[in-house]
Amino acid sequence: MENCIFCSILAHDIPSHKVYEDDKVYAFLDITQVTPGHTLVIPKVHVSDIFEYDEALATDVFSRIPKIARALEASFPDMEGLNIINNNKEIAYQSVFHSHIHLIPRYGKEDDFALHFGNHMENYTADDLAALAEKIKAQVKSE
Ligand code: 5GP
Ligand code: ZN
Repeated sequence: MENCIFCSILAHDIPSHKVYEDDKVYAFLDITQVTPGHTLVIPKVHVSDIFEYDEALATDVFSRIPKIARALEASFPDMEGLNIINNNKEIAYQSVFHSHIHLIPRYGKEDDFALHFGNHMENYTADDLAALAEKIKAQVKSE
């Protein structure tokens, strides 16, 4: 797609540091290197975000993640863990609108990455949670 920075990377119009490639996906170093080895995995087809995936594309992209994760683990002996992040839409911190999965190696509590999970369980009864789950469940479509 025109004016897509990741399509330009796939077309080799913009250089990148390749980590892995096959017929379906391309993985390369994120330019910011939030932590050493920070890698992006992208589908070779242009889709904006997770809401455009079908099951086949999800299989293509997500099935490659574990082997790339293991390659990071093998490359960085001091890596202690890995965050896998997929931002969808601007409100959720997406800034490049060609879907991508971040693999962010973690090197202890002092590395430059943080996530905050608020806890609001005091606002929900068991019945509220059951109703919430039912509401979502009714919307899950079979493909
Ligand atoms: P998002 O905020 O959309 O989840 O993540 C987009 C990521 O793309 C950012 O982490 C940013 O550093 C990375 N990025 C943006 N432009 C380029 C580029 O030209 N090359 C590479 N390698 N990464 C990029
Ligand atoms: Zn694209």
